[in-house]
Amino acid sequence: MSGLRTRATLHDLVPAFVRTPDPSLIQLAANEAAYGPLPSVAEVLAREIERVNRYPDDGAVGLRHTIADWLGVEGAEVTLGAGSLGLLEQVMLALCDQGSEVVYPWRSFDVYPQLIRVAGATPRPVPLREERNDLETMLASIGGRTRVVIVCNPNNPTGPAVGRPELESFLRRLPRTVTVLLDEAYFEYVRDPAVPDGLTLLRDHPNVAVLRTFSKAYGLAALRVGYLVARREIIEAVDKTHVTYSVSRLAQAAALASIGAQEELGERVEATVRERGRVRDTLLSQGWRVPVSEGNFVWLRLGAASQGFGKDLERFGVAVKVVPDEGVRMTIGTREENDVFLEAAGAVREAEL
Ligand code: PMP
Repeated sequence: MSGLRTRATLHDLVPAFVRTPDPSLIQLAANEAAYGPLPSVAEVLAREIERVNRYPDDGAVGLRHTIADWLGVEGAEVTLGAGSLGLLEQVMLALCDQGSEVVYPWRSFDVYPQLIRVAGATPRPVPLREERNDLETMLASIGGRTRVVIVCNPNNPTGPAVGRPELESFLRRLPRTVTVLLDEAYFEYVRDPAVPDGLTLLRDHPNVAVLRTFSKAYGLAALRVGYLVARREIIEAVDKTHVTYSVSRLAQAAALASIGAQEELGERVEATVRERGRVRDTLLSQGWRVPVSEGNFVWLRLGAASQGFGKDLERFGVAVKVVPDEGVRMTIGTREENDVFLEAAGAVREAEL
């Protein structure tokens, strides 16, 4: 007993570090892009590294305005953060008081409950329905203390997304005091035309905030840069929680260069989308049940068999994400990496039969 006193809301939390898989395995565990930086982005980074003795532009003014122009919104409607995770935390801190409630889908992105608790708010998880966010039940879970509802679209780790009519009907009935944090980390991989681009919802629904990232389709996961688009009042509140210099010089430069390299990056995303289809079709033909995915990953709901399947895959040299007793999420890699995974999945399936 050291006599150390800490914030009461943290007492029943444990530090939540993500475990890095064995680097000798094929990395299909973290929904990263399968490819390293584009040569043009690498060049910008090499130049910028010469200047890391200088602090970054703290307001990321250039990047903010470039994103705003690119998306057709005002500069005051965009802010940057240390990954979309950094922004998720900022949104919670900006919008929640001690005792506020945050409604969110579950199973979904593991970090949500921790961030909600760190902000002093109470997590209100709502089970998925057919592997998607169950907006009706989420709406019914909203009470007087609810400040934020997180909608993860498409949902990580399961893959499906909710469509426009459903989302709009939900937004129409939502109290104006509740902000919807629409987590579109996988937006660039969505191909179902029924799934709305969150930005198109902003005009009619000013309580929506759209969260996106350069970590996935743009392949900058290690640099930590994400952005939030919302009405200026929300952005201003979130900016009050900004940690000085938290979006690094390298992150800003690489994000700017990536916006300028849309076409090449788009080709990579297309390759991943094609591979997603091929992986799912092959898994289905092997006899697995796999929901349609709009992200760069697929989900196998294996229940108690999940841990065993994860171990089997490791023996074949593949690291996936295991959600104990629920399922296994496989990130779409390069064609060759996916082939190793598919061969392993096929062999496991045959051994079972
Ligand atoms: N949201 C979702 C749904 C995610 O899956 C992830 C990453 N796995 C993030 C946010 C965070 O991404 P980042 O902080 O790298 O932008």
